[in-house]
Amino acid sequence: MESLEDEDRKIDYLKGGVEMILVLMGPPGCGKGTQAKKLEAKLGIPQLSTGDMLRIAVKNGTEVGRKAKKYMEEGQLVPDEIIIDVMRERLVQKDCNKGFILDGFPRTVPQGEALNKLLDEVGKKITDVINIDVADQEVIERISGRRQCVKCGATYHIVFSPSKGDHCDKCDGDVVQRGDDKEETVKERLSVYRKQTAPLIFFYRELGLLKEIEGIGDIEEIFSRICSLIKKDECCGKAS
Ligand code: ADP
Ligand code: ADP
Ligand code: ZN
Repeated sequence: MESLEDEDRKIDYLKGGVEMILVLMGPPGCGKGTQAKKLEAKLGIPQLSTGDMLRIAVKNGTEVGRKAKKYMEEGQLVPDEIIIDVMRERLVQKDCNKGFILDGFPRTVPQGEALNKLLDEVGKKITDVINIDVADQEVIERISGRRQCVKCGATYHIVFSPSKGDHCDKCDGDVVQRGDDKEETVKERLSVYRKQTAPLIFFYRELGLLKEIEGIGDIEEIFSRICSLIKKDECCGKAS
Protein backbone atom coordinates (compact mmCIF):
# COMPACT_ATOMS: atom_id res chain seq x y z
CA MET A 1 0.00 0.00 0.00
CA GLU A 2 1.15 3.53 -0.73
CA SER A 3 1.90 5.80 2.19
CA LEU A 4 0.21 9.18 2.53
CA GLU A 5 3.50 10.80 1.66
CA ASP A 6 3.60 8.91 -1.63
CA GLU A 7 0.04 9.93 -2.39
CA ASP A 8 0.96 13.58 -1.77
CA ARG A 9 3.85 13.38 -4.18
CA LYS A 10 1.64 11.88 -6.84
CA ILE A 11 -0.91 14.63 -6.43
CA ASP A 12 1.78 17.36 -6.51
CA TYR A 13 3.13 15.86 -9.64
CA LEU A 14 -0.26 15.92 -11.34
CA LYS A 15 -1.11 19.44 -10.15
CA GLY A 16 2.18 20.76 -11.46
CA GLY A 17 1.28 19.40 -14.87
CA VAL A 18 4.76 17.97 -15.22
CA GLU A 19 4.94 15.63 -18.13
CA MET A 20 7.08 12.56 -18.06
CA ILE A 21 7.60 10.23 -20.98
CA LEU A 22 9.66 7.19 -20.04
CA VAL A 23 10.81 4.40 -22.34
CA LEU A 24 11.72 1.07 -20.73
CA MET A 25 13.99 -1.09 -22.83
CA GLY A 26 15.78 -4.38 -22.49
CA PRO A 27 15.55 -8.01 -23.60
CA PRO A 28 12.34 -10.01 -23.21
CA GLY A 29 11.95 -10.97 -19.56
CA CYS A 30 14.31 -8.32 -18.17
CA GLY A 31 11.55 -6.88 -15.98
CA LYS A 32 10.14 -4.02 -18.09
CA GLY A 33 6.52 -4.86 -17.34
CA THR A 34 7.15 -5.40 -13.64
CA GLN A 35 8.93 -2.06 -13.28
CA ALA A 36 6.50 -0.20 -15.55
CA LYS A 37 3.59 -1.24 -13.32
CA LYS A 38 5.42 0.05 -10.24
CA LEU A 39 6.22 3.34 -11.97
CA GLU A 40 2.59 3.65 -13.06
CA ALA A 41 1.43 3.31 -9.45
CA LYS A 42 4.04 5.73 -8.19
CA LEU A 43 3.76 8.42 -10.85
CA GLY A 44 0.09 8.15 -11.75
CA ILE A 45 0.80 7.96 -15.47
CA PRO A 46 -0.21 4.93 -17.56
CA GLN A 47 1.95 1.99 -18.55
CA LEU A 48 1.57 1.41 -22.28
CA SER A 49 2.56 -2.18 -22.93
CA THR A 50 2.40 -3.07 -26.62
CA GLY A 51 2.63 -6.77 -25.70
CA ASP A 52 -0.46 -6.50 -23.46
CA MET A 53 -2.30 -4.42 -26.07
CA LEU A 54 -1.56 -6.99 -28.76
CA ARG A 55 -2.58 -9.92 -26.54
CA ILE A 56 -5.93 -8.22 -25.86
CA ALA A 57 -6.36 -7.58 -29.61
CA VAL A 58 -5.67 -11.27 -30.34
CA LYS A 59 -8.11 -12.37 -27.64
CA ASN A 60 -10.82 -10.06 -28.97
CA GLY A 61 -10.17 -11.10 -32.57
CA THR A 62 -9.80 -7.52 -33.83
CA GLU A 63 -8.18 -6.77 -37.18
CA VAL A 64 -4.88 -5.88 -35.47
CA GLY A 65 -5.11 -9.08 -33.43
CA ARG A 66 -5.71 -11.22 -36.51
CA LYS A 67 -2.71 -9.69 -38.25
CA ALA A 68 -0.41 -9.91 -35.20
CA LYS A 69 -1.21 -13.42 -33.99
CA LYS A 70 1.15 -15.50 -36.11
CA TYR A 71 4.13 -13.21 -35.54
CA MET A 72 3.64 -13.33 -31.79
CA GLU A 73 3.30 -17.12 -31.73
CA GLU A 74 6.55 -17.46 -33.67
CA GLY A 75 8.45 -15.02 -31.47
CA GLN A 76 8.83 -12.53 -34.34
CA LEU A 77 8.07 -8.83 -34.19
CA VAL A 78 4.75 -7.62 -35.52
CA PRO A 79 5.41 -5.40 -38.59
CA ASP A 80 6.31 -1.81 -37.77
CA GLU A 81 3.32 -0.26 -39.64
CA ILE A 82 0.82 -2.18 -37.51
CA ILE A 83 2.35 -1.27 -34.17
CA ILE A 84 3.02 2.35 -35.14
CA ASP A 85 -0.65 2.77 -36.11
CA VAL A 86 -1.72 1.33 -32.77
CA MET A 87 0.57 3.71 -30.88
CA ARG A 88 -0.42 6.75 -32.95
CA GLU A 89 -3.97 6.30 -31.66
CA ARG A 90 -3.01 5.37 -28.12
CA LEU A 91 -0.65 8.27 -27.39
CA VAL A 92 -3.29 10.92 -28.02
CA GLN A 93 -5.81 9.46 -25.59
CA LYS A 94 -6.70 11.60 -22.62
CA ASP A 95 -5.00 9.50 -19.95
CA CYS A 96 -1.64 10.18 -21.67
CA ASN A 97 -1.82 13.95 -21.25
CA LYS A 98 0.43 13.98 -18.15
CA GLY A 99 2.86 11.52 -19.67
CA PHE A 100 3.21 7.76 -19.98
CA ILE A 101 5.56 4.80 -19.61
CA LEU A 102 6.38 2.87 -22.76
CA ASP A 103 6.94 -0.83 -22.14
CA GLY A 104 7.92 -2.82 -25.24
CA PHE A 105 7.78 0.04 -27.73
CA PRO A 106 9.81 1.06 -29.65
CA ARG A 107 11.42 -2.24 -30.56
CA THR A 108 13.11 -1.35 -33.86
CA VAL A 109 14.97 1.74 -35.06
CA PRO A 110 12.14 2.63 -37.50
CA GLN A 111 9.72 2.48 -34.55
CA GLY A 112 12.06 4.77 -32.60
CA GLU A 113 12.10 7.22 -35.48
CA ALA A 114 8.31 7.03 -35.83
CA LEU A 115 7.91 7.70 -32.10
CA ASN A 116 10.07 10.82 -32.30
CA LYS A 117 7.95 12.02 -35.22
CA LEU A 118 4.67 11.34 -33.41
CA LEU A 119 5.90 13.19 -30.33
CA ASP A 120 7.24 16.09 -32.41
CA GLU A 121 3.82 16.52 -33.98
CA VAL A 122 2.24 17.07 -30.58
CA GLY A 123 5.15 19.07 -29.11
CA LYS A 124 6.28 16.38 -26.66
CA LYS A 125 9.65 14.84 -25.88
CA ILE A 126 10.98 11.66 -24.30
CA THR A 127 12.23 12.34 -20.77
CA ASP A 128 14.40 9.25 -20.27
CA VAL A 129 15.11 5.91 -21.89
CA ILE A 130 15.99 3.27 -19.33
CA ASN A 131 17.77 0.18 -20.57
CA ILE A 132 17.55 -2.75 -18.15
CA ASP A 133 20.52 -5.01 -18.68
CA VAL A 134 20.04 -8.72 -17.88
CA ALA A 135 22.14 -11.60 -19.23
CA ASP A 136 20.53 -14.32 -21.38
CA GLN A 137 20.75 -17.09 -18.78
CA GLU A 138 18.86 -15.04 -16.19
CA VAL A 139 16.30 -13.91 -18.77
CA ILE A 140 15.56 -17.52 -19.70
CA GLU A 141 15.07 -18.40 -16.05
CA ARG A 142 12.75 -15.43 -15.55
CA ILE A 143 10.67 -16.14 -18.64
CA SER A 144 10.35 -19.86 -18.03
CA GLY A 145 8.86 -19.14 -14.59
CA ARG A 146 6.70 -16.21 -15.70
CA ARG A 147 2.95 -16.55 -15.28
CA GLN A 148 0.33 -14.00 -16.24
CA CYS A 149 -3.26 -13.43 -15.18
CA VAL A 150 -5.55 -13.88 -18.19
CA LYS A 151 -8.05 -11.39 -16.79
CA CYS A 152 -6.03 -8.36 -15.56
CA GLY A 153 -2.54 -9.01 -16.98
CA ALA A 154 -0.76 -9.06 -13.58
CA THR A 155 2.58 -10.83 -13.84
CA TYR A 156 4.03 -13.40 -11.43
CA HIS A 157 7.03 -15.67 -11.25
CA ILE A 158 6.75 -19.17 -9.82
CA VAL A 159 9.88 -18.65 -7.68
CA PHE A 160 10.76 -14.94 -7.58
CA SER A 161 7.29 -13.39 -7.32
CA PRO A 162 4.62 -16.05 -6.81
CA SER A 163 0.89 -15.41 -6.43
CA LYS A 164 -0.42 -16.27 -2.96
CA GLY A 165 -2.70 -19.03 -4.19
CA ASP A 166 -3.56 -20.71 -7.50
CA HIS A 167 -5.29 -17.60 -8.79
CA CYS A 168 -4.44 -13.93 -9.34
CA ASP A 169 -3.99 -11.97 -6.08
CA LYS A 170 -5.61 -8.90 -7.62
CA CYS A 171 -8.68 -10.24 -9.44
CA ASP A 172 -8.83 -13.99 -8.78
CA GLY A 173 -8.41 -14.68 -12.52
CA ASP A 174 -6.59 -17.73 -13.90
CA VAL A 175 -2.80 -17.41 -13.90
CA VAL A 176 -1.18 -19.16 -16.88
CA GLN A 177 2.04 -19.40 -18.88
CA ARG A 178 2.05 -17.33 -22.07
CA GLY A 179 2.11 -19.37 -25.28
CA ASP A 180 5.26 -17.57 -26.43
CA ASP A 181 7.10 -18.18 -23.14
CA LYS A 182 7.99 -21.74 -24.17
CA GLU A 183 11.75 -22.35 -24.39
CA GLU A 184 12.06 -22.55 -28.19
CA THR A 185 10.15 -19.34 -28.81
CA VAL A 186 12.13 -17.58 -26.08
CA LYS A 187 15.39 -18.37 -27.89
CA GLU A 188 13.94 -16.94 -31.10
CA ARG A 189 12.78 -13.80 -29.25
CA LEU A 190 16.25 -13.28 -27.81
CA SER A 191 17.79 -13.53 -31.25
CA VAL A 192 15.18 -11.10 -32.64
CA TYR A 193 16.00 -8.77 -29.73
CA ARG A 194 19.70 -8.78 -30.57
CA LYS A 195 19.16 -8.17 -34.27
CA GLN A 196 16.24 -5.76 -34.29
CA THR A 197 15.91 -4.11 -30.89
CA ALA A 198 19.45 -3.79 -29.48
CA PRO A 199 20.41 -1.23 -32.19
CA LEU A 200 18.01 1.16 -30.43
CA ILE A 201 20.52 1.35 -27.57
CA PHE A 202 22.91 3.21 -29.89
CA PHE A 203 20.06 5.25 -31.35
CA TYR A 204 19.09 6.59 -27.90
CA ARG A 205 22.68 6.92 -26.71
CA GLU A 206 23.36 9.22 -29.68
CA LEU A 207 20.31 11.27 -28.73
CA GLY A 208 21.68 11.60 -25.18
CA LEU A 209 18.59 9.97 -23.65
CA LEU A 210 19.93 6.58 -22.60
CA LYS A 211 20.27 5.57 -18.96
CA GLU A 212 21.52 2.09 -18.26
CA ILE A 213 20.86 -0.01 -15.21
CA GLU A 214 21.95 -3.42 -14.06
CA GLY A 215 18.78 -5.55 -13.99
CA ILE A 216 20.05 -8.20 -11.56
CA GLY A 217 18.80 -7.93 -8.02
CA ASP A 218 15.39 -8.07 -6.43
CA ILE A 219 12.43 -6.20 -7.85
CA GLU A 220 12.46 -3.42 -5.22
CA GLU A 221 16.18 -2.87 -5.60
CA ILE A 222 15.85 -2.42 -9.37
CA PHE A 223 12.95 -0.05 -8.79
CA SER A 224 15.10 2.15 -6.53
CA ARG A 225 17.79 2.22 -9.19
CA ILE A 226 15.30 3.37 -11.80
CA CYS A 227 13.79 6.02 -9.52
CA SER A 228 17.19 7.46 -8.70
CA LEU A 229 17.92 7.80 -12.41
CA ILE A 230 14.78 9.61 -13.41
CA LYS A 231 15.42 13.31 -13.93
CA LYS A 232 12.52 14.68 -11.96
CA ASP A 233 13.34 12.58 -8.95
CA GLU A 234 10.98 14.57 -6.74
CA CYS A 235 8.19 12.64 -8.49
CA CYS A 236 9.53 9.34 -7.32
CA GLY A 237 11.28 10.28 -4.13
CA LYS A 238 12.82 7.41 -2.32
CA ALA A 239 11.53 4.13 -3.67
CA SER A 240 10.63 2.09 -0.68
P1 ADP B 1 8.26 -9.54 -23.50
O1 ADP B 1 7.52 -9.35 -22.21
O2 ADP B 1 8.85 -10.88 -23.60
O3 ADP B 1 9.25 -8.46 -23.77
P2 ADP B 1 5.96 -8.50 -24.91
O4 ADP B 1 4.79 -8.88 -24.11
O5 ADP B 1 6.45 -7.11 -24.80
O6 ADP B 1 7.15 -9.53 -24.64
O7 ADP B 1 5.68 -8.79 -26.44
C1 ADP B 1 5.15 -10.04 -26.87
C2 ADP B 1 5.16 -10.09 -28.39
O8 ADP B 1 4.33 -9.03 -28.91
C3 ADP B 1 6.53 -9.87 -29.04
O9 ADP B 1 7.30 -11.07 -29.12
C4 ADP B 1 6.10 -9.38 -30.43
O10 ADP B 1 5.64 -10.43 -31.25
C5 ADP B 1 4.90 -8.49 -30.09
N1 ADP B 1 5.28 -7.08 -29.86
C6 ADP B 1 5.17 -6.39 -28.70
N2 ADP B 1 5.61 -5.13 -28.84
C7 ADP B 1 6.01 -5.01 -30.13
C8 ADP B 1 6.59 -3.96 -30.90
N3 ADP B 1 6.83 -2.76 -30.38
N4 ADP B 1 6.88 -4.22 -32.20
C9 ADP B 1 6.64 -5.40 -32.75
N5 ADP B 1 6.11 -6.44 -32.09
C10 ADP B 1 5.80 -6.26 -30.78
P1 ADP C 1 9.43 -8.08 -19.48
O1 ADP C 1 8.20 -7.20 -19.44
O2 ADP C 1 10.69 -7.32 -19.68
O3 ADP C 1 9.28 -9.20 -20.47
P2 ADP C 1 8.54 -9.06 -16.85
O4 ADP C 1 8.37 -7.83 -16.06
O5 ADP C 1 7.33 -9.73 -17.35
O6 ADP C 1 9.59 -8.78 -18.06
O7 ADP C 1 9.42 -10.07 -15.98
C1 ADP C 1 9.73 -11.38 -16.46
C2 ADP C 1 9.58 -12.39 -15.31
O8 ADP C 1 10.62 -12.18 -14.34
C3 ADP C 1 8.26 -12.27 -14.54
O9 ADP C 1 7.85 -13.56 -14.17
C4 ADP C 1 8.63 -11.42 -13.32
O10 ADP C 1 7.80 -11.75 -12.20
C5 ADP C 1 10.07 -11.83 -13.07
N1 ADP C 1 10.92 -10.71 -12.58
C6 ADP C 1 10.83 -9.40 -12.88
N2 ADP C 1 11.81 -8.69 -12.27
C7 ADP C 1 12.54 -9.59 -11.57
C8 ADP C 1 13.70 -9.48 -10.73
N3 ADP C 1 14.30 -8.32 -10.49
N4 ADP C 1 14.18 -10.63 -10.18
C9 ADP C 1 13.58 -11.82 -10.42
N5 ADP C 1 12.50 -11.98 -11.21
C10 ADP C 1 11.98 -10.89 -11.78
ZN1 ZN D 1 -5.64 -10.68 -12.27
